[in-house]
Amino acid sequence: MEDGKPVWAPHPADGFQLGTIVDIGADSLTIEPLKQGQKSFTAQINQVFPAEDDVNKHVEDNCSLMYLNEATLLNNIRVRYSKDKIYTFVANILIAVNPYYDIPKLYAPETIKQYRGKSLGTLPPHVYAIADKAYRDMRVLKMSQSIIVSGESGAGKTENTKFVLRYLTSSYGTGQDIDERIVEANPLLEAFGNAKTVRNNNSSRFGKFVEIHFNEKNAVVGGFVSHYLLEKSRICQQSQEERNYHIFYRLCAGASEDIRTKLHLGSPDAFRYLNRGCTRFFANKETDKQILQNRKSPEYLKAGPLKDPLLDDQGDFNRMCGAMKKIGLDDTEKLDLFRVVAGVLHLGNIDFEEAGSTSGGCTIRNQSSQTVDYCADLLGLEEQDLRISLTSRVMLTTAGGAKGTVIKVPLKVEQANNARDALAKAVYSRLFDHVVTRVNQCFPFDSSANFIGVLDIAGFEYFEHNSFEQFCINYCNEKLQQFFNERILKEEQELYQKEGLGVNEVHYVDNQDCIDLVEAKLVGILDILDEENRLPQPSDQHFTETVHNKHRNHFRLTVPRKSKLQVHRNVRDDEGFIVRHFAGAVCYETTKFVEKNNDALHMSLECLVSESKDRFIRELFENSNNTKDSKQKAGKLSFISVGNKFKVRTNVYTGSSFIRCIKPNLKMVSHQFEGAQILSQLQCSGMVSVLDLMQGGFPSRAPFHELYNMYKQYMPAKLTRLDPRLFCKALFKALGLNENDYKFGLTRVFFRPGKVRPSDNKPLSA
Ligand code: ATP
Ligand code: MG
Repeated sequence: MEDGKPVWAPHPADGFQLGTIVDIGADSLTIEPLKQGQKSFTAQINQVFPAEDDVNKHVEDNCSLMYLNEATLLNNIRVRYSKDKIYTFVANILIAVNPYYDIPKLYAPETIKQYRGKSLGTLPPHVYAIADKAYRDMRVLKMSQSIIVSGESGAGKTENTKFVLRYLTSSYGTGQDIDERIVEANPLLEAFGNAKTVRNNNSSRFGKFVEIHFNEKNAVVGGFVSHYLLEKSRICQQSQEERNYHIFYRLCAGASEDIRTKLHLGSPDAFRYLNRGCTRFFANKETDKQILQNRKSPEYLKAGPLKDPLLDDQGDFNRMCGAMKKIGLDDTEKLDLFRVVAGVLHLGNIDFEEAGSTSGGCTIRNQSSQTVDYCADLLGLEEQDLRISLTSRVMLTTAGGAKGTVIKVPLKVEQANNARDALAKAVYSRLFDHVVTRVNQCFPFDSSANFIGVLDIAGFEYFEHNSFEQFCINYCNEKLQQFFNERILKEEQELYQKEGLGVNEVHYVDNQDCIDLVEAKLVGILDILDEENRLPQPSDQHFTETVHNKHRNHFRLTVPRKSKLQVHRNVRDDEGFIVRHFAGAVCYETTKFVEKNNDALHMSLECLVSESKDRFIRELFENSNNTKDSKQKAGKLSFISVGNKFKVRTNVYTGSSFIRCIKPNLKMVSHQFEGAQILSQLQCSGMVSVLDLMQGGFPSRAPFHELYNMYKQYMPAKLTRLDPRLFCKALFKALGLNENDYKFGLTRVFFRPGKVRPSDNKPLSA
């Protein structure tokens, strides 16, 4: 940083602000902001960065800037965003800022045509450029490719994933049904697996990996969707201002009169699983808040039907039905799905009260009688069986040597509530599994040569309260981060070595220890949890204590009491643990970990549904992996590990590209760039380590033969007889380039940051 030249210094809201250094201390600097009338302040030396000479200039590939650091990256993205250029490359990683409005022509069919077959860097950064690169790599290398889309909730992962799918099917499809079906599967998956949350009106509550398969001739032949961990808690309960899965409201709003009668549907207000989370909307925000606090008040109840003004449930219902038709679901299948959805809603309305007898058990309230009828009818159950299964539990006893005696234990009201909710969650999540399976039948293929897979999975999550869902998501992100580090950082270093550049090694934080903490055999948190689940009387507390005991001095794990954050101090040490993730420390509260890790229903409920008169319901439970075998292995109560299913294998696919999605603001509006928020996303996504690597290295490069072909026409014949490497040496000498700005490798020349004109710059390994 030179005297008097502007620098980027921290700013609480914008991330960085321009200033000049007016004093230099031991490890801090005094900065005078460039903005008039602002006071000077001090900042840590390592948080102040050199600025480009022209801060209003922007570049398509961030690596062609002179200074590669988090401040110049943020500024480049900001300037581009203000001009509706939401995509930016950092080498061949694509950064995508959510514009929150439709930028004209950005995704138009003619744009799709433009990107077809073009090398990365020849056209402006775009998600299509990444899609085409994956395709070309697949074709040339004859190897499946993956595109990993990451970012926090609302950053645009799912939208960008859809653009990739549309691009590939319309550019490289065969123009048959299959292409359209791959695209149309999304509305169906989203209806059952997406919901409105405070962060995103259409938040995916499951992760997915979509594969598009190609034949020997590299044309689309089919697709396959795998999904991870649907958020089950949402089925029975939602936080304030959030909703259940879209399908519930859509069905209530859009079903025909005939279906409504058949399924006994009414307004969403009538259902416990819908009427507790979502707000009704009033004109005045302040009164709104007050009224919301008392949901039983006449004002609240008067406020009209539960309806989110931002969502058009009726229109969405029709669009969803259109998509169902396109992917080939007939009316019977459609009704099967709707019947189960309605069954879950009615199930949720069943209420219990203490039984008058001395048994300590409970009975179903009289008012719920009709609801029980509806529910039994829709799910194909005997009404009496449903009543018994919800209010009692069948257990096998080993007491007194009478091995295998079946006893019926009455449930308390709270236990019955739990049983009801567990049944609802099981039925709905099996339904979701079925939807995914069904979708996969829509684009079958006999054989495929290679595929391009797109991973759309929730980014790192850190809320006030974090539970098992966040634990699984963050573990998954930890794995992805490792994969990213390995791919981008390690490979870059390896390339320098292979080309004989003699560049110092760049260090990055290896997170293998954190991954081991979660997934190691026997001692990893997931295995400890599975062990707990297999105990006769598992408990969250015992599980938590075991975790702490097994990892007493683990760098990545501490007890909540030691947390610097006040909020975690309220969590007792046997109620949680703190994991130091690559993106920050998160306190997980372990209440319900044991329950949430178990996908199995208790025996009475399992028997109930697997003996349903309804063929569709029976199939939902037959096709699941809850086979008799695993049940027997697990003993009295079957246990199916959720955590284990979530263990991720990231390194299967050799070729991969990364799209880092960025959410520009928390208000979900267009044209608002909240610098500090965005900066923290860039840091969490590992982009800052990439910049460090690039700044110390040679981020721009060109193969000798490319430069040779580009320049030979301008050079004397004598020179063009040289081999491309020597030719380039001669060329650089002739141009008088500074020798510190480039290095010759074995096959290509590498440039220091900012030493190649943006228009000539070829991103990494394009
Ligand atoms: P979650 O993790 O919650 O599923 P997400 O990262 O998948 O979040 P999206 O659902 O893709 O986020 O995006 C949220 C919303 O932002 C979209 O519904 C859409 O309104 C808007 N959006 C995202 N990307 C774009 C884009 N490229 N152009 C226009 N609008 C967009
Ligand atoms: Mg999503």
